[in-house]
Amino acid sequence: MDNRDIADRLDAFASLLELGDANPYTARAYHRAAETVRNSPVPIAELVRSGRVRELRGIGRSIEARLRELVETGRIAELEELERELAPDLVGLGRYLGLGARRSVELARALGVRSADELRKAAAAGRLRDAPGIGPKTEARLLQALDREADPRPRRGLHLNRAWELVGGIAAALDGEPAGDVRRWRDSCERLAVVCAAADARPVLDQFAQLAQIVAIVDRDERRAVGVTVEGVPVELCVAAPERAGTELVRATGSREYVSALEPLPDAPEEHALYEALGIPWCPPELREQPFRGEPPPLLDPQDIRGDLHCHSTWSDGRQSVEQMGRAARERGYDYLAICDHTPAVGAVKGLSPDDVRRQGEEIAAANEELAPFRLLRGIECDILPDGRLDLPDDVLAELEWVQASVHGGQRMPRREMTKRVEEALRNPYVRCLSHPTGRLINHRPENALDLKRTFEVAREEGVALEVNGLAPRLDLSGEHVHEALGAGVKIVCSTDAHSTRGLGNMGLSVATARRGWAIAADVLNTQPLSAILGGR
Ligand SMILES: [Zn+2]
Ligand SMILES: [Zn+2]
Repeated sequence: MDNRDIADRLDAFASLLELGDANPYTARAYHRAAETVRNSPVPIAELVRSGRVRELRGIGRSIEARLRELVETGRIAELEELERELAPDLVGLGRYLGLGARRSVELARALGVRSADELRKAAAAGRLRDAPGIGPKTEARLLQALDREADPRPRRGLHLNRAWELVGGIAAALDGEPAGDVRRWRDSCERLAVVCAAADARPVLDQFAQLAQIVAIVDRDERRAVGVTVEGVPVELCVAAPERAGTELVRATGSREYVSALEPLPDAPEEHALYEALGIPWCPPELREQPFRGEPPPLLDPQDIRGDLHCHSTWSDGRQSVEQMGRAARERGYDYLAICDHTPAVGAVKGLSPDDVRRQGEEIAAANEELAPFRLLRGIECDILPDGRLDLPDDVLAELEWVQASVHGGQRMPRREMTKRVEEALRNPYVRCLSHPTGRLINHRPENALDLKRTFEVAREEGVALEVNGLAPRLDLSGEHVHEALGAGVKIVCSTDAHSTRGLGNMGLSVATARRGWAIAADVLNTQPLSAILGGR
């Protein structure tokens, strides 16, 4: 059993604990332990056998006991019990219909149904109302939700990283292609789709129904099925005849507006052949939002990125040391990496004082001796205080090689004050980049009341770049805002805001978001060599 298997089982256990309304801290502890196991360079099974597993962060006595059981017997008995008791298929269908986990299971028990299919039959037969607590209104809502199956959507969009994990995993298992919103790299994914090519669709549809990710099938016909995950997220599978596979992929990828402007679509075995038949150039999926038949620009490519300019280390809330981060960036083929830890005003985590900044500088210099010619940059993610001043004095900022300025606290400021606050910071001569400019958290917090047009003007005047933050809940600037920023003559930076070596892998999310804003390599500062970064603004 390798670390990945063990981590997956711990995650499954944590998810079931959540379903079962266990103490949320317990579930979170298991998720964190799974993360630790996944990132551990040492085989966990060996640590468990030698009794040393508790040396790892976040692994206490009770998690150790589960790990021992798993390593010795290959299973966690309580996990299997929970799986039986909680009926993930009913929970998945219930959540898809807008019911909580407990409620779904209660409803199923009251109706005496044991599968998603039986639940749907009971609904069709008008029996929902027999269940306690289901009035005519809830019944109507459930019936309406069951009716939506032709156009299945999750109740709220998925973060892009989660959507990729889900859709990419299913596509890989079925030897198909990811499609839908994921393939366009939308910041919040609603249409989750996979396209496969097969003359005989049935075995592929059967295999889909058996996948670990899919707990119930809510709709199926000859060449299409919709399954739901235990979170109630619907995933659509289209099994195209091989001679139409390209056609179905285009149809399942583009936005409705984009696709309908291309109709009627000719039959084609793959995408390029379809575009050829239409007599227009192939279009990168990121640009398939609005109708477009023209020649696409040579979009920024992940290979163009020469370094990452925003990451954290153990000096603030990162998980790895400065040197470990540097090594990981060098392994990715980068020329440079800016270490940008927080400053004290950030509050929730430890921030660097002027003294810390200088001591960190010594550590970075020492790491650079090891890593040369790769280069760690002395950077900072400096808070912008409510009055627009920065959280470190200018003489400290002057020593640094890369200064990101960030609004963290006090985000609910009115528009005029917020815009002035940010403008003030951009006027500071040491600031090179504005981090996560709008401060939004997808599904969680709206954009700050910031006048972006004014911000772009000031950024252009001052030669300050705007970040495209690659954290999945942020993706800030968004693709639309990137497009506006580039139109205003502002440069952008694609960054990960990584808090671990693994987090450096989020560059793909940032690059794709910039591509959605039609960015080419010349628009992006960190496609430039180190000398351009060190050259100042
Ligand atoms: Zn930040
Ligand atoms: Zn950060």
